[in-house]
Amino acid sequence: MKRIPVSGPSITEKEIAYVTDAVTNAWYANANVYNERFERAFAEYHGVRYAVSLPSCTSALHLSLLALGIGPGDEVIVPDCTWIASAAPVSYVGATPVFADIDPASWCLSANSFAACITPRTRAVIPVDLYGNVPDYAALGEVAQRHGIAIIEDAAEAAGTRFRGRAAGTFGVTGTFSFHGSKTLTTGEGGMLITDDEAVYRRVLVLRDHGRRPGDTMFENHEVGYKYKMSSMQAALGLAQIERAEELVARKREIFGWYREALADCGELVLNSEAQDVRNTYWMVTAILPARLGGKAAVIRRLGEQGIDCRPLFSPLSSLEAYAATPMAQAARARNRVAYALSEHGVNLPSGLNLGREDVARVAAAVRGLLAAPAMQDAA
Ligand SMILES: *Cc1c(COP(=O)(O)O)cnc(C)c1O
Repeated sequence: MKRIPVSGPSITEKEIAYVTDAVTNAWYANANVYNERFERAFAEYHGVRYAVSLPSCTSALHLSLLALGIGPGDEVIVPDCTWIASAAPVSYVGATPVFADIDPASWCLSANSFAACITPRTRAVIPVDLYGNVPDYAALGEVAQRHGIAIIEDAAEAAGTRFRGRAAGTFGVTGTFSFHGSKTLTTGEGGMLITDDEAVYRRVLVLRDHGRRPGDTMFENHEVGYKYKMSSMQAALGLAQIERAEELVARKREIFGWYREALADCGELVLNSEAQDVRNTYWMVTAILPARLGGKAAVIRRLGEQGIDCRPLFSPLSSLEAYAATPMAQAARARNRVAYALSEHGVNLPSGLNLGREDVARVAAAVRGLLAAPAMQDAA
C-alpha cells in the first residue's frame, strides 16, 4: 500500500532547468542574477515595490521586527494557533509575544481578541494567514490603525491568497513568506520579505548582511548584523515556482474541491472556509472532526495505520512547553476558547501538490470509515 504523504512539491522541467543553469553559471559576477530575478518576479506578482530573498520566513519575521525597532519592553500580538515561527522571532528581539484568540470561521486572528489584547506596550501585531486563509484584514487594519500598531503579515502559508482582490502579504508594513519544502511555493528552504516602505527595505538590506551597506566591496560593517541570504540555486528554484504560481494555486484549489465533494455529506465534519471576498489557497486541507473520534492524535494514528500521513492542527502556543510557564501564556489559556476548542479536533489531511484524485478518494474513504465506525472510543 502506497503511503500518502501530508505534503509535497510540484517540480517540473522548468525548475530543473533553472537550477541547473544556476549551479552552472550563477557564480562571481553572476552570483546574484537569480536572486534579483526571483525578487523582481515576486514583487511584481504581489504588486509591491520591494522583495528581499532570505533563508526562511523565520528570518523575514526577525528582520521585520528589527527594522521596526521592536525590542525589550514591547509587546507583539500573535494568534495562539500557528507555527511557533510566528512568535519565536518576537522572543529573539527580547519583546513579549501576546497570544490572542482565533476566529471560529477563518481560524485566523480574531479582530475582537486582538483589540482586547492591546496595552500601552503593544507595538506590533503578526496576523497569520493560516492554511492559506486570511483574517478579516478590514477589521484588523482598522483596530491597528486606531492604536498606531504596526502589522507584520505572516503569509508563510498563503502565497497566492487574495482578500478583496489584494494579495496576501500586502496587508502590513512587511509581508513574510516561507518556501519550506511543504509550502505552496518551495525552494527547499527559503523565505521572502516584501514591503512598500523604502526605509524598512533599506534597513533590512543592512541588517541581513552583517551591517554592510548594499554595494559595499570594502567589507565595512557599520553595526553588528545578521547573515540572512538565499543561495542562487534556491532563488532559481523559486523563480520557476513564482512563474508557475497561478498554476500551483489552481492545483491547490482543485485538491480542496476534490475533498469537499468527497466529504460533502459528512455533516459532522468542518473543512476550511472561504469567505466571499477571499481566494483561499488551501495550503493544508484541514478537517475539524467530531469529539467522539477521540481527538486529533487518535485520528492521526488511525489514518496513519491506513498509510495516510496527517498532521495536527497547531496546538495553541500558550499550551506548549516553550511558552506555557510565561504569564502571557497563562492569560491566553484562560482567554482563547476558540483556539483550544478547535485545535483539539483539527487534522491536516494530505494536501501536497503531487496528490492525485485517487489519493484524495482514498483519504476521504478512510475519514468516512472513521465517522461510520460505531465504537470509536480511543483506547489510548
Ligand atoms: C512555515 C511557517 C513559518 C516558518 O517558515 P520557515 O521558512 O520555516 O522559517 C512561519 N509561519 C508560518 C505560519 C508557517 O507555516
